[in-house]
Amino acid sequence: MNPITFHAPQAAADALRQIGGANAAFIAGGTNLVDLMKEGVMRPATLVDINSLPLDAIEATAQGGLLLGATARNADTAYHRLVRTRYPLLSAAILAGASPQIRNMATDGGNLLQRTRCHYFYDTAVGCNKRAPGSGCSAIGGLTRQHAILGASEHCIATHPSDMCVALAALDAVVHVRSEQGERKIDFADFHRLPGENPERDNTLQPGELITAIELPPGAQYAAHSAYLKFRDRASYAFALVSVAAALDIGPDGVVRAARVALGSVAHKPWRVPEAEVLLVGKRPGGAMFEACAELLLAGARGQGQNDFKIPMARRAVVRALEQAAAGTIDNMHAPDTKESL
Ligand SMILES: Cc1cc2nc3c(=O)[nH]c(=O)nc-3n(C[C@H](O)[C@H](O)[C@H](O)COP(=O)(O)OP(=O)(O)OC[C@H]3O[C@@H](n4cnc5c(N)ncnc54)[C@H](O)[C@@H]3O)c2cc1C
Ligand code: SF4
Repeated sequence: MNPITFHAPQAAADALRQIGGANAAFIAGGTNLVDLMKEGVMRPATLVDINSLPLDAIEATAQGGLLLGATARNADTAYHRLVRTRYPLLSAAILAGASPQIRNMATDGGNLLQRTRCHYFYDTAVGCNKRAPGSGCSAIGGLTRQHAILGASEHCIATHPSDMCVALAALDAVVHVRSEQGERKIDFADFHRLPGENPERDNTLQPGELITAIELPPGAQYAAHSAYLKFRDRASYAFALVSVAAALDIGPDGVVRAARVALGSVAHKPWRVPEAEVLLVGKRPGGAMFEACAELLLAGARGQGQNDFKIPMARRAVVRALEQAAAGTIDNMHAPDTKESL
């Protein structure tokens, strides 16, 4: 057991100073990091606990959007009145993930940074380029049921497992980041990355950078017509095999003014193809257009054998999610505006 230096700062400036050393990590809900430490996949020498930082607010922005604090809990976010009313797609995606207990602990910032669920990543006895660069990819030719059909490389075929991030991608969220050098904003499309030759890097965050908030631009135009669809091996408490976040802005004449579609668990990042969305604009929502949109989204998809089923599954999921969105957002809220009970 390696000794760990533990800090619990009250101010972001202190947290940024304490994270400075090599092999240090922020810890928020701990629902992913602690598992990784128990398995020996991540071995930080310093932990900076960010739970006491004043970063848990969920606030409306002057522009009509919403700012989700990095340490706001996934459950508090999903059940927040403004999220439920303006961004029901985000509520639905969060509630499709994990379990009530985990959503009560997991934070919004941590959700973005959760690591892949590739079995070989967690098994330190085998090669994995993401965990140990240059050690090879044990998944290729191995168990690939959960793996990527889009954007993979010869070095890594892992997927990003988050549900929340699929909705954030569809909603054009922006990630607010702070380091000792200053603050910057990262468009969600640029936050997660494809594996390429460096699968050890999941995202474009630089060492020592702290996520402070996630900004949602005004999105009420999609509130009446959105759907999150998740296919998985069990009805609950399972990561997606394929998921879809779909949102339509439909005018009073019944014509689509704007569309957003993102696929989850099919690539190293939530998958969007702007041309597939443009295809729907100016048309009445329905059959052939939805199928054409799915074709474009899945252009170039390639299975690894065990996960070939994901290609037709994703195609059908896109069409179904768009049909559900067109029919009207389902109110999937059954609980009051409070934290879920354990
Ligand atoms: C059994 C189980 C089932 C799950 N099922 C699902 C599911 O179906 N769908 C789904 O989407 N998710 C699922 N999850 C994942 C869960 O949503 C994530 O573990 C959680 O969102 C991570 O948030 P956290 O606050 O606990 O992060 P932590 O575990 O605390 O941290 C995760 C990573 O983020 C870094 N970090 C955290 N916050 C910040 C910050 N503000 N700035 C910079 N770095 C930061 C940490 O250093 C660490 O590397 C599941 C998890 C478990 C354990
Ligand atoms: S797919 Fe990626 S995470 Fe999985 S074994 Fe290969 S390199 Fe590692």
